[in-house]
Amino acid sequence: TTALVWLRRDLRLSDHAALSVALQEHGRVIPVFVFDRTILDPLPPTDRRVAFILESLKEIQARLREYGSGLVVRIGDPRTEIPGLAHEFQASAVYANRDYEPAAIARDTAIAQSLAGQGIQWVDVKDQVIFERDEILSRQGTPFQVFTPYWRSWLQKLTPVAMAEYPVTPYCRNLARLPAVPLPSLEELGFAPNDETPFTLTVGESGAATLLADFARRIEHYHVLRDYPARKGPSYLSTHLRFGTVSIRQLVRLALANPGEGAECWLKELCWREFYQQLLWHRPDLVEHTFRPEFDRLPFPNREDWFAAWCAGRTGYPLVDAGMRQLNQTGWMHNRLRMITASFLVKDLLIDWRRGERYFAEKLLDFDLASNNGGWQWAASVGCDAQPWFRIFNPVTQSRKFDPAGHFIRRYCPELARLPDSAIHAPWLAAPLELESAGIRQGQDYPHPLVDHASQRQAALALFKAASGR
Ligand code: FAD
Repeated sequence: TTALVWLRRDLRLSDHAALSVALQEHGRVIPVFVFDRTILDPLPPTDRRVAFILESLKEIQARLREYGSGLVVRIGDPRTEIPGLAHEFQASAVYANRDYEPAAIARDTAIAQSLAGQGIQWVDVKDQVIFERDEILSRQGTPFQVFTPYWRSWLQKLTPVAMAEYPVTPYCRNLARLPAVPLPSLEELGFAPNDETPFTLTVGESGAATLLADFARRIEHYHVLRDYPARKGPSYLSTHLRFGTVSIRQLVRLALANPGEGAECWLKELCWREFYQQLLWHRPDLVEHTFRPEFDRLPFPNREDWFAAWCAGRTGYPLVDAGMRQLNQTGWMHNRLRMITASFLVKDLLIDWRRGERYFAEKLLDFDLASNNGGWQWAASVGCDAQPWFRIFNPVTQSRKFDPAGHFIRRYCPELARLPDSAIHAPWLAAPLELESAGIRQGQDYPHPLVDHASQRQAALALFKAASGR
């Protein structure tokens, strides 16, 4: 019998649940990918995620050639393309790895129904996470609303079976013989190569393997270095996790093979990813609304000029600006800076967190609806297990603590490079002579601070207090 395996956010050929299961159950398996017009059409032509996907598909295509097989690619709406392909290849089943986002669930449900109408089976399997849906619940049988008990329960359930590899290679003889068909070009998909900001990230399964091998040598220091943006602390694997060019099971196996504080701390971050994905599965309303209903409609003043300055990395707060410029230039931002810039937008500039969430969604190569929404709701103090609203990051204290020598600031705000360490975190406090000898004219070479943190903090506290009824 023939089966299709529909690749989506799982762009790899090893340790792949849907592919492994389909290859074991069918004698002829056809891997397919659909460039989804409904997702691609609203994106700007310079969006770099499409290039990441395309390059990763090329690698898949080349590997499939080794087996005399190939990737079948379509451009269109999967709601019609997938049933169409299943019909064309006379498939008896379509396999896919499960997705937990509300829009993906609606799409998959519609496709499953349409396939059922043709007598074709829809089979979706768990691949993207270690535990899903109702596998981790509180003793009352409800979803956890706090991370720590979720993490404890997750860890307790983590048996070798839960992270076992789904082998593909031994069954590759069941891949369908297919002619080599070239993939569409970026231009054919309506996108332009982005020359202004070249791609710094390694792509495909091979790119993920390179990053992972490098991180494996550093994992023991993760807990110490991960908070310092100028240091090489984290794994930089988020885009690969987002597009599935690496298997989550492989990452968990790596962590367990390197016991220590570094690995445990990293495992916890992988668990946060699942916590937010499964939270969204239980609470699809979080896409639009706050977890804490009392904060859903906070009356933010939302000053447009301040929002534009935040986006451009021109708030006058150096570490905030350096973080935003890292995002704009590379499509990635360090986790500590995501927390600082998000907090600054909401609590210092008093702008609705959804505006920032949307900006990150446009710019982040690793954009993931669940993690982004969870991260923003956390930083804005409106979410599940969020930062308490009365604890507000001080952007200067954070800067002194996490970029003490200003290395990161100097990299992304080169106009401040010659300021001494003592002045780089808050240039407006520098002596005129210090500014002059660093060649900085405040307000011209680098902006005056948009706001005064102390007074904005009071305004934010008043806004939240009024809504919380405390
Ligand atoms: P590592 O530190 O090496 O962590 C390994 C993996 O664990 C990451 O790749 C990621 O998949 C997961 N992870 C780590 N921290 C978190 C976290 N706090 N929440 C959920 N998963 C986590 N992460 C995204 O993948 N996509 C997003 O769109 C996203 N938006 C965010 C928005 C805000 C406001 C905040 C505060 C955080 C956001 N994060 C997001 C989480 C985190 O910042 C990134 O996952 C991390 O910086 C990616 O770098 P890394 O791969 O080197 O991480």
